[in-house]
Amino acid sequence: MAVIPGDGVGPEVVSASLPVLRAAAARAGARLDPVEFDWGGERYLRTGRAMPADGAEILRGFPAVLFGAVGRPDVPDHELVWGLIIGVRQALDLAVNVRPVQSWAGVRTVLREPDGVDLVIVRENTEGEYVGVGGRAHAATAHELGIEVAVHSRTAILRAARYAFDLARSRRGRVSLVTKSNALRHGYTLWDAVVAEVAAAYPDVECEQVLVDAMAVRLVQQPRDLDVLLCSNLFGDILSDLAAVLAGGMGMAPSANLLPDGDAPALFEPVHGSAPDIAGRGVANPVACMLSGAMLLDHVGLPVAGRIVRDAVATALRDPARHTPDLGGSATTKELAAEILAVVESSTAP
Ligand code: NAD
Ligand code: MN
Repeated sequence: MAVIPGDGVGPEVVSASLPVLRAAAARAGARLDPVEFDWGGERYLRTGRAMPADGAEILRGFPAVLFGAVGRPDVPDHELVWGLIIGVRQALDLAVNVRPVQSWAGVRTVLREPDGVDLVIVRENTEGEYVGVGGRAHAATAHELGIEVAVHSRTAILRAARYAFDLARSRRGRVSLVTKSNALRHGYTLWDAVVAEVAAAYPDVECEQVLVDAMAVRLVQQPRDLDVLLCSNLFGDILSDLAAVLAGGMGMAPSANLLPDGDAPALFEPVHGSAPDIAGRGVANPVACMLSGAMLLDHVGLPVAGRIVRDAVATALRDPARHTPDLGGSATTKELAAEILAVVESSTAP
């Protein structure tokens, strides 16, 4: 697999995660050979590019990529975010973004009863409001305009929807389609129509349509009833940050970017960014990165190793003395990671 630690807390959480992933793979009788790339902000300052011009093509040679985070205060965000992570997602056409959210025993959250949440947000990853169509006009006049055109295609909706329904089939069999088709009459009515067609092909999966504002309320008030949320790019972006809080925060949120049935490598990354406010202090929570690594292990055909990682994370987090500061504890990245590694090494492969 390819590994891009990146900037800020990226290298801290990646280096804490790799020994855990390697040990879990070994428990499952497999070997991981990570190949590291120094892409990111430092490389940008040195060479003017966050990654080589053929970076995405280099990644094509790997089955999977583990990515830390990019972004540094002394480089404009768009240079690094577009020059690396969004550039890679687009070049590899990673059409679907998968963001699981669950409760962890021992981890306190904003919820009065923190347990029982187990949901996955499936986010369309390429279009909607993020296509970059639009423009600015009549600068600094009373008529000044900023126009952002949202583009939704049948192909992209189908890819995300089929992934969501297949996933629901392997879980509790429920898809909640999140739209805003009462007010946005073109793009989101297409979502409703295409997803209804897909739903007809999955009679065993229950499908409901929920408006995004109502879903924001549901996520806070009744998150336990939710299984798979199927979202457009914008709604998935916003709701998945909200949902991460139900698991304990950004330090707990893993994700996968993938092209179902395609030949591109899948890319796994914590949802969080480079967290410059805590970078270099050794206190970043490595769990989001480790859980992203567990999804990577599942993806490369090592689901036993993936489960070993998740079980070890769960075991370690039961003890609040192991928690990093974002979870209300005082453990360092290395202390939490060492505990998780110890649990992995003492586990017996199922
Ligand atoms: P951020 O996710 O980096 O940080 C948001 C908050 O969450 C901060 O308070 C941070 O301390 C906390 N946090 C994040 N990860 C944590 C962890 N592992 N453990 C404990 N606390 C954690 O988002 P931001 O501050 O908006 O952005 C910072 C930089 O990261 C910017 O340059 C931004 O462009 C970039 N960014 C990159 C990605 C990516 O690489 N995919 C994603 C989001 C933001
Ligand atoms: Mn976001």
